[in-house]
Amino acid sequence: MSLSQLARAIAESPTLSLNEQARLLRERGEAVVHLGAGEPKNRAPINAILNSAARLSSGDVKYTPTEGILSLRKAILRYTEENYGRVVAPENVLVSAGAKQALYNLLFTLLNPQDEVIILAPFWVSYPEIVKMVYGIPVIVTPEDGRFVPRMSEIEQAVTSYTKAIIVNSPNNPSGVIYPESLVAELVEFCEQRGIYLIMDDIYQKLVFDGKMHTPAYRFTTKDPETTRVLVINGISKLYGMTGFRIGWVVAPREIIQVMTNVQAQTTSCVSPLLQAAAEGALTGIQSVVETLRLTLENNRNVMLQELRGFTGITVHPPDGTYYCLPDFRAYGGDSVALSSFLLKKALVVTVPGKEFGIEGYLRLSYATTVKEIKQGIERIKWALDPESPNEIYIGDRKLLRDWL
Ligand code: PMP
Repeated sequence: MSLSQLARAIAESPTLSLNEQARLLRERGEAVVHLGAGEPKNRAPINAILNSAARLSSGDVKYTPTEGILSLRKAILRYTEENYGRVVAPENVLVSAGAKQALYNLLFTLLNPQDEVIILAPFWVSYPEIVKMVYGIPVIVTPEDGRFVPRMSEIEQAVTSYTKAIIVNSPNNPSGVIYPESLVAELVEFCEQRGIYLIMDDIYQKLVFDGKMHTPAYRFTTKDPETTRVLVINGISKLYGMTGFRIGWVVAPREIIQVMTNVQAQTTSCVSPLLQAAAEGALTGIQSVVETLRLTLENNRNVMLQELRGFTGITVHPPDGTYYCLPDFRAYGGDSVALSSFLLKKALVVTVPGKEFGIEGYLRLSYATTVKEIKQGIERIKWALDPESPNEIYIGDRKLLRDWL
């Protein structure tokens, strides 16, 4: 069949396809442990549900302004003021169907064909693909072995006259690392000086542990909201565990927002008012839900680290935040795709291969699940990988066989 070469070159989303595989296995009755998920088990916050339900019962479900309902954008302004210490106008905000679409629309708006976008490994799987989808060129900067954060000098070396933007995600998916304040400050100064856009994906901003704080670049810039090169991507998916509500946003100079609005107007018109109402409910409602989620995640992270501690050959950098940790599994072979698919087949545990995040030999393990699943999942992985362990174990009434040796 004749299809676009560009579209065919876009990789399948490995995380979404793993979710699908896990779902199919579960449907077949298999006792799958899902350590691959990028979403927690919580219910949506009550204020989100009530606000959305009220909008639905009103029967007023029509197109909204493309850039988003004003009251939602005002709630985003308040969020920006509280969490970044910056006062911006409604014209600096555009609401999209998730941070993913926000990023796509932003890159579509910023890039000319062949422009380069610097992506720091380990990176969220979608960055390189989205850059390619808008005819840009992803340039990956990989920190030296054993580090999850590149040095400023390594980033500078990757900059050319074609560099349009640098994407930074901190706290980071997949490593859980918060980028050091000094690096964030250097990046802001460098980008403002050189006229390079610094796209900060702050989606895990508040889900941080051990009393640490995320350092938002938007707070560091001395430029005003109309001239700054620091652009913010954020949303409710991770903050409130509201992944299915598909609301994300961009904070940027109004010149960028105006063009992005045209791009969005010609593609999606607007995000559903029901989902916008839910987002507004979450942002203006009881905020203790975020702290409850954060505490659950911190506890889960501790359980996962505890379980991994006794695991021969594995090293893990304790995550500062997010839903994930990224242990080094190179002692069990360098091919993370093969390792991950082996673990799914033999131990029925979903993990995400590090290769997808630009860091081969590692596996991303999500602790956005139950303590029981975390314990069971790590126990099964240990069993599957330890040549000394018994050849079979029972999970419920299902026998797992380590017949790969
Ligand atoms: N950025 C990062 C770093 C993410 O991990 C994700 C979701 N996995 C997104 C953006 C997309 O979020 P949304 O659900 O709002 O599209």
